[in-house]
Amino acid sequence: QERLRRIRDRVRPFPDFPEPGVLFRDISPLLKDPVAFRTLIDLLEDHVRASCPKIDLIVGLDSRGFLIGPPLAQRLGIGFVPVRKKGKLPGATESISYSLEYGKAELEIQSDAVEPGQKVVIVDDLLATGGTMCAACELLKRLKAEILECLVIIELKSLKGLEKLNSIPFYSLLQYD
Ligand code: IMP
Repeated sequence: QERLRRIRDRVRPFPDFPEPGVLFRDISPLLKDPVAFRTLIDLLEDHVRASCPKIDLIVGLDSRGFLIGPPLAQRLGIGFVPVRKKGKLPGATESISYSLEYGKAELEIQSDAVEPGQKVVIVDDLLATGGTMCAACELLKRLKAEILECLVIIELKSLKGLEKLNSIPFYSLLQYD
């Protein structure tokens, strides 16, 4: 499809970043091109309206989920909730530590950010091993949110992150091997 091609053309591959052997997918050119960025939000909006019509909130993951989550939430006329890296959010929080390819990380959400039963879609730029998305899902489950879907721009198929999400609905605009 023409609109998807416009987005794919603005994702730049960088070999050996941040570690040797890793092919990093960089969305900076997509953010910089206002037509492509608008098209991205158009496609995400169309998808959420069709697949998750009863959505209450968009939840975005630190930090590139903060770039696409708020414009998407505005289009849908709903609120945005950030999930942040450890130590950034004031007040009571829920936190979870999870393992990365090298080392560990911790994510947090404010305890009152989502009401029990609220329906959320979690957005990020990219799904790799799925560890980050999986940790975010655990935080939302602790707040008793209903996760309608996990939504990303890019899915790195070979890392099998989808398997880690178990039965949680998942959608990606672009897939790479
Ligand atoms: P995962 O936890 O292994 O699925 O990694 C996903 C997280 O790492 C997301 O928050 C991404 O922003 C980031 N990430 C991993 N690989 C890439 C990449 O190739 N490009 C951009 N972000 C990446």
